[in-house]
Amino acid sequence: MSQLLSHGFTDLVYLHATRVDRVSIFFSQSHLHLDFTFEAYNIVMRILLVEDEPKISAYVKRGLEESGYAADAVYTGRDALDWAFATAYDLIILDILLPEVDGLTVCRELRAGKNHTPVLMLTARDTIDDRVTGLDAGADDYLVKPFAIKELLARVRALARRVNEAPKSPTLTLADLELDPATHRVTRAGKLIELPAKEFSILEYLLRNTGRVLTRTMIAEHIWNYDSYNQSNVVDVYIRNLRRKVDDPFEPKLIHTLRGVGYRISVEIDEN
Ligand code: CA
Repeated sequence: MSQLLSHGFTDLVYLHATRVDRVSIFFSQSHLHLDFTFEAYNIVMRILLVEDEPKISAYVKRGLEESGYAADAVYTGRDALDWAFATAYDLIILDILLPEVDGLTVCRELRAGKNHTPVLMLTARDTIDDRVTGLDAGADDYLVKPFAIKELLARVRALARRVNEAPKSPTLTLADLELDPATHRVTRAGKLIELPAKEFSILEYLLRNTGRVLTRTMIAEHIWNYDSYNQSNVVDVYIRNLRRKVDDPFEPKLIHTLRGVGYRISVEIDEN
């Protein structure tokens, strides 16, 4: 395992760290595919850092990485939303004052989009009102600037503990389709549907983003790693298989194609 990790598969492992439970390795076309789940392994936490001041961002990123976390840095609220919905982060560190979309709005949009990744909010404004507003927006904790990296790391550890102790994510449902991330069980209209790991992951990803359009690239990056993927038609093949099992025998159809764009799972039919 450690040999694999040292050969550039770390991104993939981070992506799956919070979600999977088995390890399987197989070749398909020219790609090596790996499926993991990691309850038995002590896995690296992946953190999204949203801070527009380059010096603070670099300082915090270095502190996180020196403590063994994997940190992706983005600098605008818009990027924060794109990245947070595309990748399964374990924690988001979110500045309030950001260009384009401010941190409070980012947090509200995450929660409205059913993204429950813990948020540690950074604020320069140390008033009771701002703290309350942050927590009301869905943040889990906040830290007032300027802060020492030691204090930030302590908050990160506390949030990580809370996440690990929290119950497993609940069943995802859409119409009569149900997917249980904890047991890897999928049913539709009460009938058990057997899905291979990749198809399960894609369906889970679609359901976690119900109503949102997911591009082939987003799906590919979510399921494989960032670099090794270049055949978007592989996503189409997996979606076709999924449809055959999850949609074809049932009504209404849930997985919709947006021609030239990607896929969306929803009860509503697209005008397309
Ligand atoms: Ca700022």
